[in-house]
Amino acid sequence: MSQSLLLDLVNSRLVYPDRVHDELGDDAEAADWLRAHGLEGSPDEVRDARAARAALVEFLRGRADAAALAPWAGAMRKRAALRADGLDWIDEIDPARAVGARAVAEWAALQGEQGSRIRACAAADCQHFLIDESRANARKWHSMETCGNREKARRHYAKARTAAGPERSGVAPPR
Ligand SMILES: [Zn+2]
Repeated sequence: MSQSLLLDLVNSRLVYPDRVHDELGDDAEAADWLRAHGLEGSPDEVRDARAARAALVEFLRGRADAAALAPWAGAMRKRAALRADGLDWIDEIDPARAVGARAVAEWAALQGEQGSRIRACAAADCQHFLIDESRANARKWHSMETCGNREKARRHYAKARTAAGPERSGVAPPR
């Protein structure tokens, strides 16, 4: 588990060829997951977490535009409360959208001059997202130990094959 509700949420469902690993798949597990993230784990929150995850994953993968997040943006408001000497601005969040609103607010805070700091891992067969806190915002892999090393090995292997020449690799040279 990371420090980020947003990151944990979009990484909470992984589809494998033979199974789906979904940390929110079961109602009781989903409630535990929410409590571990400082929420209550109510049925409303479970519903909202699943809906927000679906929208955020589609959006972060570029398959939906930002309008997909509109229900949660619309759930966040600031209300002015009058004082004798001015106004206080109070955050109000629709409780039925509280989980997604927190995740969307976190997403918004990760946007900056160098682009988004949350994105999908660059490995083709990896479904994880990552948050890049480096200065250059150029991190590609969600984990250097798994995806980063595998990609390095793959490149090394491809280079070695090319260096070995067409005879030894069994590939006919292009004509
Ligand atoms: Zn990865």
